[in-house]
Amino acid sequence: MNQQAIVIGAGIVGLATATALARKGVSVTVMDRHAFAVGASVRNFGMLWPIGQPSGQRYDRATRSLSIWKELCQSAGIWMDPAGSLHLAYDGLEQEVLEGFHDLVKTERPYRMLTAEEVIHLSPAVRSKGLKVGLYSPQECIVDSPLAIRALPAYLSEAFGVKFLWETPIHRVETGAVWSGSQRYDADLVFVCTGPDFEILFPEEFAARSVTRCKLQMMRLGDQPPGWRLGPSLCGGLSLTHYPSFGAAGDALQRLRDRFAMELPDHVRWGIHVMVSQHSDGGLIVGDSHEYGSTLEPFDREEINMAILSYLKRFTDLPGYRVTRTWNGIYTKMTDGSTELVCHPLPGVTVINGLGGNGMTLSFGLAEEVIAVI
Ligand SMILES: Cc1cc2nc3c(=O)[nH]c(=O)nc-3n(C[C@H](O)[C@H](O)[C@H](O)COP(=O)(O)OP(=O)(O)OC[C@H]3O[C@@H](n4cnc5c(N)ncnc54)[C@H](O)[C@@H]3O)c2cc1C
Repeated sequence: MNQQAIVIGAGIVGLATATALARKGVSVTVMDRHAFAVGASVRNFGMLWPIGQPSGQRYDRATRSLSIWKELCQSAGIWMDPAGSLHLAYDGLEQEVLEGFHDLVKTERPYRMLTAEEVIHLSPAVRSKGLKVGLYSPQECIVDSPLAIRALPAYLSEAFGVKFLWETPIHRVETGAVWSGSQRYDADLVFVCTGPDFEILFPEEFAARSVTRCKLQMMRLGDQPPGWRLGPSLCGGLSLTHYPSFGAAGDALQRLRDRFAMELPDHVRWGIHVMVSQHSDGGLIVGDSHEYGSTLEPFDREEINMAILSYLKRFTDLPGYRVTRTWNGIYTKMTDGSTELVCHPLPGVTVINGLGGNGMTLSFGLAEEVIAVI
């Protein structure tokens, strides 16, 4: 008989785990406490973002994840835009970081440094005034997260027979079984992919690990003309200080950080870096900020949204900036420098969590690696 697995959580980590198990021939049941996914996985940019990953295992995992995303989106008819990405430099120091990074990775990654004219030619949305250069990558893709994350369960059911039990909150996990109220569900293997609700099932594990929560503020801009497309997703200089990949630029990056600390103290204080992607219906997704803590204020701060928008206008020239929706999302993040938490609090029970701001980019590859060794 097939092995049976239960996956708790139908965010991207749970869906990626279910996919990896089902592809190995395991019978999978996914349980989620909500009627449909409402967590971090539907609140993000939908950026599948290898460029943010340092070379080596993480970059390889991101490119593997991207190829699984592509297969699934194609098979399931889920919208995906191979839009690529453009990182923009508006002064000599930002240019130095981009060029330093490009020099180090150009033999292994498909990137190109573009002149200001080439950038403007590629994207109608980039602000031309003061633009020095851009780093273009054709690799990054966009999915419309709420659509993709909610369409994947139907596809996994149809293609692999994965069962989904919605509105099934799990309050207890044992070796070989999980409990929702008085209902017991048996399985050979249990995977706990519960995102920021992690500590409810394993409070001691959570307390013993270097994990925190991070709250991010996001916005959606409407009012773009019908058919208008952003082109590649865009990032300004602050993003160079956010993604670990740019650490390869060394000393120039530290000087850029120091300058931002002097010139943009509020942006630095709220962990703001600004990116924009475009979803399938034309809406632009803009963010974000980073506030850390075990318990986070539920309300959004207007000053953060204002700071994000003012920085966005430094590097974009969009048809419309009207904000049509605001929200925040919370993810778990490791504080000891590790990139995820994979642990076994009980025999046969695997926790996968703590992917931080990279869950959409890394989950499929990580899940494959985790399943391969179980
Ligand atoms: C604003 C924002 C922007 C981001 N942008 C990007 C991006 O562009 N690219 C990228 O790669 N990453 C991005 N990320 C990170 C990415 O979204 C997360 O890493 C990822 O979504 C985490 O997925 P998850 O499955 O662990 O959590 P979640 O999506 O939160 O899913 C956890 C699920 O578990 C369920 N659950 C919890 N407890 C129980 C229980 N006891 N019983 C049953 N079900 C339970 C919940 O209902 C939920 O559906 C962003 C995150 C945020 C918040």
